[in-house]
Amino acid sequence: MKRASIDPSTGAVVGHVTEASPDDVRAAVARARAAQPAWAARSLGERAALLRPLAADLEVHAEALAQSTTAEMGKPLADARAEADTIFSRFDAEVDEVVDALSPEVRRTARVHSTIVRDPLGVAACITPWNFPLLMPHEQLLPALLAGNTVVFKPSEETPLTGDLLASLWRRHLPPDVLLVVHGDERAGVALVAADVDLIAFTGSREAGRAILGEASRTFKRVVLELGGKDPLLVLDDADLGAAAQFAARNAFRNAGQVCVATERILVTEGRRDAFVDRLVAAAGSWSQGDGRTDGVRVGPMVHARQRTHVASLVSDALAKGARVAWQGPDLGGNFFPPTVLVDVTNDMRIATEETFGPVAAVSTVPDEDAAIREANAGRYGLGAVIFGEPTRARAIASRLAAGMVGINQSVAGAPGTPWVGARESGYGFHSGADGHRQFAQTRVISEPVGS
Ligand code: NAD
Repeated sequence: MKRASIDPSTGAVVGHVTEASPDDVRAAVARARAAQPAWAARSLGERAALLRPLAADLEVHAEALAQSTTAEMGKPLADARAEADTIFSRFDAEVDEVVDALSPEVRRTARVHSTIVRDPLGVAACITPWNFPLLMPHEQLLPALLAGNTVVFKPSEETPLTGDLLASLWRRHLPPDVLLVVHGDERAGVALVAADVDLIAFTGSREAGRAILGEASRTFKRVVLELGGKDPLLVLDDADLGAAAQFAARNAFRNAGQVCVATERILVTEGRRDAFVDRLVAAAGSWSQGDGRTDGVRVGPMVHARQRTHVASLVSDALAKGARVAWQGPDLGGNFFPPTVLVDVTNDMRIATEETFGPVAAVSTVPDEDAAIREANAGRYGLGAVIFGEPTRARAIASRLAAGMVGINQSVAGAPGTPWVGARESGYGFHSGADGHRQFAQTRVISEPVGS
């Protein structure tokens, strides 16, 4: 069946893809299964050598990848170009990182010589969301394929053409059937998870992650689940309020808030609340909204009407329970939800605990830092958290937060080689960094007597 991809800014049809039936999904997995032994028989070095030239292709096609991203999910073109840049600019260094992580290691005593090897798992299902339709697949495909797995990739149903274009570039450098693409919504994802795959690498919502974990548990399929978040920003008494406000606006509004590590809650102490909110409102004013192809636009639409309805319902619920709008951009209608600064957000409001995934900076006032830590740790998520304040005190607070990634006076983005990791219900397994890359392989230990 044909499925249309819709431009969320204009409602125009961007193009069509063919949806995979459950039988199509199983057939793709069977082809990937048949191709896997030959791919695994190549050495890690050979696989790396085949893939390195992909960087040049990704660079040549970066503008097409960015244009496709903006057309399908609406992010401003400058952001889409930055995302396209990310997947080729460090490609060689990333290949080196994965090769290092997967290379054999030796441990020995006078009596025993052991080699730790990282072998392919078999067929990997790679299932990705629409909010970063280039970066999310990239983070899964690179370790999955270098580890010697073959891959059946299901891009989000919101960004299928971008997924196709990306996969077509990868496939130029791979033998037949080492990377296959299936299209479709949740139903295709469910069929893929249930099919004869050995690893499920998934980035998406907590709810889908939970369903996948349940299905995978039946046969102990390996999983790498990168899930949703409800990231807090803690503004300490000694924070640089201007810098904290600039960060808050950027991290609440970029990609229209449709970022797993978006600032979803802002916790500020009573004494600094007004000064902080004044600066936040001033910073918010520069986040103009519109079609992502228009110069100067920094906030695009919600990816679809359901997402707009979800964000609107969280804001309405908060307003009904006593929150106030301190600032809001003009309402453009359609799928656009205006960037909004909400204050007086309290715990009984849905927006305090549910993932918003929209351009809302939600400010709560707390009596002191202990209360801020309690609030930050409340709820089921534990993806990221950011603290603005004097670094020594901020570091001490970081050690008390439940988040997998903490940024101090900056975003949670770590240096190259660090993992992307969620705590609690924000993840189960993780990718990137040596520890992440190794989750795409089966670790085995081969031991023998020294001198045998
Ligand atoms: P989603 O869970 O609805 O869909 C993600 C992908 O999974 C899509 O390809 C979808 O078709 C498929 N899918 C949906 N249900 C499935 C199921 N039961 N079995 C198998 N596949 C299924 O998420 P989304 O709306 O595309 O993305 C937004 C979510 O992703 C947010 O919660 C966000 O926080 C999260 N996210 C997390 C990270 C991270 O690194 N932790 C990064 C980006 C996005």
